[in-house]
Amino acid sequence: WQTPNKPIVLFIEGDGIGPEITRAAMSVIDKAVERAYKSSRQIKWMEAIVGEKAEKMAGNRFPQESVDLIQRYRVVLKGPLETPVGGGFRSLNVTIRLILDAYANIRPVKYMKGLESPLRNPEKVDLIIVRENTDDLYRGIEWRWDSPEAVKLRDFLRRELKVEIEDDAGIGVKPISKYKTQRVARMAIRYALQNGRRSVTIMHKGNIMKYTEGAFREWAYEVAVKEFRDKVVTEEEVSKGASQAGRLLINDRIADNMFQQIITRTESYDVILAPNLDGDYISDAAGALIGNIGVLGGANVGDTGGMFEAVHGTAPKYAGKNVANPTGIIRGGELMLRFMGWTEAANLIDKAINEAVNQRKVTQDLARFMNVQALGTKEFAQALTQI
Ligand code: NAD
Repeated sequence: WQTPNKPIVLFIEGDGIGPEITRAAMSVIDKAVERAYKSSRQIKWMEAIVGEKAEKMAGNRFPQESVDLIQRYRVVLKGPLETPVGGGFRSLNVTIRLILDAYANIRPVKYMKGLESPLRNPEKVDLIIVRENTDDLYRGIEWRWDSPEAVKLRDFLRRELKVEIEDDAGIGVKPISKYKTQRVARMAIRYALQNGRRSVTIMHKGNIMKYTEGAFREWAYEVAVKEFRDKVVTEEEVSKGASQAGRLLINDRIADNMFQQIITRTESYDVILAPNLDGDYISDAAGALIGNIGVLGGANVGDTGGMFEAVHGTAPKYAGKNVANPTGIIRGGELMLRFMGWTEAANLIDKAINEAVNQRKVTQDLARFMNVQALGTKEFAQALTQI
């Protein structure tokens, strides 16, 4: 999307440690924008009240006024929100995603010195997982084994298609559409090109699920070679002698192999594009490679807006103590700047975080492993703005 020079950006403080880390992130983002563009660009923050704060003020966790704000302004920096367990309560996060039609989930996973990674050479981990967010088994189209629908479906399959399914089997449906695959593939390739990444790997289990995951692979390749022809080269073309110089490499890997590859040959992978279910698994697995999901940011984005956040939750035991690590939501802010096209400011944030950790300026969660004195949430954010 097109970003004006002084855009209104919404923030949602969130619950638990949310208000502290969100405010810390806003101060770091403002400083990076000021450094990168002087006064020619500036974010105008506006609060959308959601979660516990809204419950207290308006008796409702998601007031209509906040829905309207998100619908109108469409770029949101969001602190973690508590999802009460059970009881007909749709997750606030899902609601925001639907308002924004945010069909892609993007999670960069990059190692920082000081983290306790299970890998021998963790500094090679620098991946971006782009997960399709609206299709696949996650649509929840499924029936209990003894429901009338399951009975009817089994009858139909047996009679019309000569497919036998056990009488005690529940049934789920896995829709993967061309339209949804191609819009997320387009997003992944554009992101890779804009941010100077080397490759996009399509992850799929197309050898077994030919017409869903296999089709995902085919449709994604089609977008790459039809819409980005002069900017990409496929692995097959390279194997036949085409030059890779200055082009984005497009390849694909079978899902189970992909898991092995990110552990054993991490450095060969960069952006990974995956259908919903594979993407869910691989984003957490990739997160585990760097040893601490508390420092990861993520985004849910569509063509007309996005929500940017930390991967972790509300960590209620640390709420109000100025000890939580704000790095996750600051990384969310970095992603937000990339989506706004404010790449210079985003790069400054990335540099500051790495530098702070190098200088052993960290919050309590990392200080423990590094044997250094911890900085508070606010002080850590301040340290970033001074690097
Ligand atoms: P959590 O991420 O809140 O906590 C997991 C562990 O990590 C805890 O020990 C916590 O103290 C620690 N931790 C997390 N973030 C930290 C930080 N920034 N600094 C230091 N330590 C940190 O996960 P949980 O306990 O499973 O969930 C708590 C609540 O958060 C639940 O209500 C859940 O629904 C919600 N949640 C929200 C989101 C979101 O808004 N995107 C994501 C996950 C969980």
